[in-house]
Amino acid sequence: MQPSLDMPPSRADRLPLIGCDLALDFTNTSSGRGHHSHLEHLRSAEHVVAWARHAKALAPADGDWILAALKADEALAARLLKRALALREIIYAIGVEVSARRRAPAEAVDQLAHVHAACIAKARLTPHGDGFVWSWAPQEAPIEAVLGPIALSALTLLTQADLSRIKQCQGDHCGWLFLDTTKNKSRRWCEMEVCGNRAKQKRHQSKLRRTLAAG
Ligand SMILES: [Zn+2]
Repeated sequence: MQPSLDMPPSRADRLPLIGCDLALDFTNTSSGRGHHSHLEHLRSAEHVVAWARHAKALAPADGDWILAALKADEALAARLLKRALALREIIYAIGVEVSARRRAPAEAVDQLAHVHAACIAKARLTPHGDGFVWSWAPQEAPIEAVLGPIALSALTLLTQADLSRIKQCQGDHCGWLFLDTTKNKSRRWCEMEVCGNRAKQKRHQSKLRRTLAAG
C-alpha cells in the first residue's frame, strides 16, 4: 500500500509501548479506528519489522536479515504485511470484547488458535536459562519469526492472564488496549499525559461552558 501523502509518517519504530503486553501493544499500532483521526502505523512490511524490533519481539540481527529478505522478495513482503494486519485485527477483536466484559468472538478465537498453531509448527524449542522457549529462525521462517512471538503472547494472555485486567483506553477515539497491572485495577488511560489530560481538559471546558451559560 502506498502511504497517503497527507498521512504523517509511521511511528512504528517509536510508538509508546503502554499495553504491558506484547500482543496488546501490537493492536496499538493503529489509533482511532473508525474515526477520521484514524492513523495506521503498519503501512508496509518494513513497518511491521520496525515495530517488532522496537517492541523487542525480534532481535536486531534477525530484523536486519528479514529486512534484506523483504527487499529482495516483494511477494514475501506483501504476505508478511497481510498476515500481520490479519493477526492484529484478530487480537483487537478479542481484546475489545473482553475489555467490555463480553465473550470473546468465537471466530476470532479460532483464528488466533490457527495462526498460533501455524507459527508453532515452524518454531523450535531452544534452551533459555533453566528452561526452554519457542524460537524461530528467520532464515527458515521469516514471517513466523516476526508474528510467532506476538501470537504466542496473545495465547498466553488469554489462557493465563486475569482477563478482567484487559482494558480499553477511555479517551475519545483512542481505542488502545492495555493490561491493567495496577494493584486495585484503577487504570483508565493508555497514557495519562495524552488521553487522561485530554479528558480532564474536556471536563474543565464543559464545566466552564455550564458556568458561563448559567451566568
Ligand atoms: Zn488513549
